[in-house]
Amino acid sequence: MIEQLLESQSASFEFLEPLPMEVDVLIVGGGIVGSSLAYFLGQRGVESLVLERGEINREASGTNAGSFHFQIALHQLTSSDPKDDMDRLLTEVRLHTEAADLWKSLEGDLKVDLGVHETGGLMVAETDEEFRLLHSKQKIEAAAGLETHVLSGKELKEFAPYLASDIKGASFCPREGHADPLLAVPLILMRAQELGAQVRTQAAVTSIERVDGKDGVRFIVQTSRGVVQARRLVNAAGAWANDISMLLGHSLPIHAEGLHVNVTEPREPILTPMLQHIGRRLTLKQTSKGTFIIGGGWPARPELQPQRYSNYWASAAGNAAVALRVMPMLQDVRLVRTWSGVMAFMNDLSPIVGESQSLPGYHVCIATTGFTLGPMMAQLLAESMVADKDFRIPQSYAVDRGLPLMTR
Ligand SMILES: Cc1cc2nc3c(=O)[nH]c(=O)nc-3n(C[C@H](O)[C@H](O)[C@H](O)COP(=O)(O)OP(=O)(O)OC[C@H]3O[C@@H](n4cnc5c(N)ncnc54)[C@H](O)[C@@H]3O)c2cc1C
Repeated sequence: MIEQLLESQSASFEFLEPLPMEVDVLIVGGGIVGSSLAYFLGQRGVESLVLERGEINREASGTNAGSFHFQIALHQLTSSDPKDDMDRLLTEVRLHTEAADLWKSLEGDLKVDLGVHETGGLMVAETDEEFRLLHSKQKIEAAAGLETHVLSGKELKEFAPYLASDIKGASFCPREGHADPLLAVPLILMRAQELGAQVRTQAAVTSIERVDGKDGVRFIVQTSRGVVQARRLVNAAGAWANDISMLLGHSLPIHAEGLHVNVTEPREPILTPMLQHIGRRLTLKQTSKGTFIIGGGWPARPELQPQRYSNYWASAAGNAAVALRVMPMLQDVRLVRTWSGVMAFMNDLSPIVGESQSLPGYHVCIATTGFTLGPMMAQLLAESMVADKDFRIPQSYAVDRGLPLMTR
């Protein structure tokens, strides 16, 4: 693993070379989405340049909890139209299954260790209503081809003896698990560079002009390190994607939120699957070093630009309280570190992926559970950029779907 990182470090020396004058695809953002897209475009023989305003992997992709979420989450189950809901859910679960396959094959394809562990995941229910939801979502998952099992009573106690004895039930998905967020981006980007992608750090995009000339569309992009022209532009700027989009006068239906993650001191191995809660904010897993990572979306405190987020004691305490409720044996385990990161939430929680119809040549790629789905969404976009049509991207992910802009 250390050798891989050293290899990626030596590949990174070119990050500070001058910008090229022009490029086919310019990708804004050096997170999991931007780096995966550079890799999948490189595989298809398409030249790209990744521009990162700071260092790669320093924002959401390097600060997240690393969990793979393939089971349907509560927020996905709420919609006013049951028919729409069913079609959308079936499509989303099929894509989640593909994302699971992609993560499983990615290490072999890249010939690197990304820390991928398919440990399985348990989604717990505390109330009768939550338990009913587990059963209804399981039927949809089965129809879409994702294996999940609802467990309760003696069966659950035998399968997961560490859970609180009054947990009503849990659904188990063997495909869930986690990967290492500190390794994924640098190693994917290293392979992308080998396929011809260029990367420049400390290069903040500050203005974008879209010129529709007789030779086709060109983007003239000003950065803190000079100007570069591109035939196509991809916005992979995560929580800052709307700032980039607004440089083209195009608003995206997203907002940024800061979230916490906590880690404990190490203990003997006891917990194999990743735990999450159908109704409360919790993800909990034990790493190979014995520490427990506790997250699930507890808020961090927004600070002034450039949009850092600091820790709330109440969030760390609230998050730990839900973890203890589900797994009481953690009560004497000490939290040793809490950190926060910032990510994009779509107002309708569906990813935004594809080419804008109103601004041809302009593409966007963002997903809310973006560590799980980022590589998959980037692959869908790379396929569509090569084939010149959005053949596999669901309509509900359209860039111009025109939802009302949320205030920050
Ligand atoms: C605390 C936390 C826990 C999470 N846990 C999970 C989890 O367990 N599982 C999961 O699936 N997802 C999780 N997520 C969500 C996931 O991390 C994100 O959805 C995903 O990493 C987004 O990747 P990205 O590449 O779109 O964005 P980022 O990783 O944020 O990358 C965007 C990049 O764009 C750069 N940029 C911005 N503006 C400019 C500019 N003007 N010029 C150049 N570059 C610019 C930024 O510096 C940044 O590096 C979590 C998120 C957080 C914050």
